[in-house]
Amino acid sequence: MDKSNYIYTVEKITQTIPICMENTQYQFSEEFAKSMDAKDPMASFKSEFLFPKVDGNEAIYFCGNSLGLQPKTAKEYLQKELDNWANLAVDGHFHGEDAWYHIRKKSKPALAAILGAEEHEVVAMNNLSSNLHFLMVSFYQPTGQKSKIITEAGAFPSDMYMLETQVKFHGLDPDQTIIEISPREGEHTLRTEDILKAIETHKDELALVMMAGLQYYTGQVFDMKAITKAAHAVGARAGFDLAHAAGNVPLQLHDWGVDFATWCSYKYLNSGPGNVSGIYVHERYAEAKELPRFAGWWGHEEGERFKMEKGFVPMYGADGWQLANSNVLALAAHQASLDIFEKAGIDNLRRKSELLTGYLEFLIRQISGESGVLEIITPKNPKERGCQLSLLIHKGGKNVFDEFYKHGVVGDWRHPNVIRLAPTPLYNSFLDVYRFARILEQSLEKFA
Ligand SMILES: *Cc1c(COP(=O)(O)O)cnc(C)c1O
Repeated sequence: MDKSNYIYTVEKITQTIPICMENTQYQFSEEFAKSMDAKDPMASFKSEFLFPKVDGNEAIYFCGNSLGLQPKTAKEYLQKELDNWANLAVDGHFHGEDAWYHIRKKSKPALAAILGAEEHEVVAMNNLSSNLHFLMVSFYQPTGQKSKIITEAGAFPSDMYMLETQVKFHGLDPDQTIIEISPREGEHTLRTEDILKAIETHKDELALVMMAGLQYYTGQVFDMKAITKAAHAVGARAGFDLAHAAGNVPLQLHDWGVDFATWCSYKYLNSGPGNVSGIYVHERYAEAKELPRFAGWWGHEEGERFKMEKGFVPMYGADGWQLANSNVLALAAHQASLDIFEKAGIDNLRRKSELLTGYLEFLIRQISGESGVLEIITPKNPKERGCQLSLLIHKGGKNVFDEFYKHGVVGDWRHPNVIRLAPTPLYNSFLDVYRFARILEQSLEKFA
């Protein structure tokens, strides 16, 4: 698509609705929602995805934070590799342009753009929880006094278990070693100043800051640039779990100097349930042969790999962290989605995303009004959030949520009273958001 055209059109949109989103500019009407869709150059991407049905009708799908939708092209990308397997069998490893031996390279340009990294800093591999462990092996080396890890309180369970068991693996006590930062009394999200202060307070003992880039529960984006800078200033490293950030918010990992990161491809990256994860390792470690790692043959110097000799020599960059030969079928589905991201452009998607989530926020505030039945805990500042809004529902709870579902809205419920809604710019429209708002209104009337 012509991206320059998009910028022009967004500027046209922003003449009436500034990106900073003054609520007064939005309107609670179907006509308005439709007019936004008519002006949206990203609108056609919706037709590239398959939607689940609720009672025979296409769902309003706000659950891309958990599992992104299937691109229509995924089947043909997978079929191509099934055909290659059928027709070429073992020769598929070295046959043609997309030889499996080199297949990891194919996803690099799109991943580099999404992560804000150099191509040699990223590689698709393994699953997210496995990658967290492998990266910790290299980047968490407690030495003497410097052994502590700063993380956010209430991190995703896999991340908590990973930190706990990594710390124990080094013979340390998790309670003494992991410093969890919590929101202030009466607040739901973390203040950057509090994170930076904790880094400063623990400067002599701090080995690592390892936290989410975008918090899965609250939807808050952390200031990865400032956090990385502060960690480096006290001689610690900074790594991020980007499960909810990749494909959702713009990232500049290389320029921010982030040491390492990992993500999954099945949330905003729409690559299919449990599909391949990826890692980022900053260029400064591209030739750091001395870093400890748990190696496999696929991270070994490519030209020498088939000599099958002793003595691990890591490949340059992130590739040197690979263990096993590429999961070709997984990468095929991943590529179907990455090609859509390349066509759309992450910056274009972000512009739409800010408008779309702003619209959802506006409608929720209108509906909740004075009653305060819905409380958005995701930061109001678009820079501090992606597409997801997390709401506390103070009355009606799960009944309201179940009522949405009956009317075709797929969202996400977190015990005891949090609803997470993620209108994604690739396959959600302003009309989806409007229709959801009407359903929300009716559900609240019934149960709250
Ligand atoms: C989704 C998610 C995971 C899931 O890990 P898998 O290894 O893909 O099962 C881990 N951490 C975070 C922060 C997540 O959001």
